[in-house]
Amino acid sequence: MRAIVVHEFGPPEVMKLEEFPAPKAGPGQAVVRVHAAGVNPFDTYMRNGTYAIKPALPYIPGGEGAGVVESVGEGVTRFKPGDRVYVGHPITGMYAEYTLALESQLHRLPERTTFEQGAGLYVAYGTAYHALYHHAKAHASETLLVHGASGGVGIAAVQLARAIGMTVIGTAGTDKGLELVRHEGAHHAFNHRNPGYTDAIMKATGGRGVDVVLEMLANVNLATDLKLLARFGRVIIIGSRGDISITPRDLMARTASVRGFTLWGISEAEEADVHAGLFAGLENGTVCPIVGKELPLADAVRAHKEILETGAHGKMILRP
Ligand code: NAP
Repeated sequence: MRAIVVHEFGPPEVMKLEEFPAPKAGPGQAVVRVHAAGVNPFDTYMRNGTYAIKPALPYIPGGEGAGVVESVGEGVTRFKPGDRVYVGHPITGMYAEYTLALESQLHRLPERTTFEQGAGLYVAYGTAYHALYHHAKAHASETLLVHGASGGVGIAAVQLARAIGMTVIGTAGTDKGLELVRHEGAHHAFNHRNPGYTDAIMKATGGRGVDVVLEMLANVNLATDLKLLARFGRVIIIGSRGDISITPRDLMARTASVRGFTLWGISEAEEADVHAGLFAGLENGTVCPIVGKELPLADAVRAHKEILETGAHGKMILRP
């Protein structure tokens, strides 16, 4: 099969399009024909060799995607060849024509959802759902700031928060991003590159502050987030690329908290909850993944450069 293969950790150029042996399904496993693979920032950290998870070399990148079950191994009962699925954290990477996954790593993709949309479900929507429901324990009466709302996780968070009735404020770094954030349901959208935009956020809450912040770039924003919180506010750290100093008294004054997580640490029960919620959302239309950029598999190097640049517009995918 054709696959992007990494033989050594390093810059995007270490990814090569090669012929690679196609996987075979063992007991409890399935082979999925990949129609679209999601591109995520963590794919780039992993390829660099700087991520907490360092795969054995050579490896195929890509932690999520969507496609059709090609074959199943002994003992697989919930899926059969021909089923449409989205896949999260499979055994082999998704930047390839086929991937190998455990049965538990497959999730049913409703007919109305395209493979391109499905490729952006597991990480972005899984993270946003887990952050909102399990970590922030968000409520309809609360105000949410999605700090970095134009990307994969941000758009998912805006849609999910609107679906439960929250008041939603989102930020983006471009006019196109702001338009998307508003279109997907944010009541207010502000440009995180404009000086004074945090004053505008505070003003939008009538000076009260926000109840929950979902933070995509904590190393830049965490200190400011604390000052934007209402009483009993919660900052949930989703993304961070470095260190930052904060003023602990900002938390004390508000009886506020900061919490971080990675999707890798989700429990089985929480994961079941997430995918039940996402399936229902896909069926009733409140979950509607936005694919901003589609590139052929051969353009994986370009994808890894562009995913770290500003100007996010929903999800980026690769097509094998
Ligand atoms: P993405 O699609 O590349 O989006 C990045 C987002 O960050 C965009 O909305 C971007 O806005 C925004 N951003 C850029 N500069 C910002 C700033 N100064 N302040 C606030 N936001 C800013 O990435 P993603 O898939 O949504 O992931 C977002 C982050 O979460 C990444 O760091 C990723 O590694 C992390 N993540 C963590 C988990 C986890 O398990 N904890 C799971 C998934 C993702 P513009 O481009 O419009 O400027």
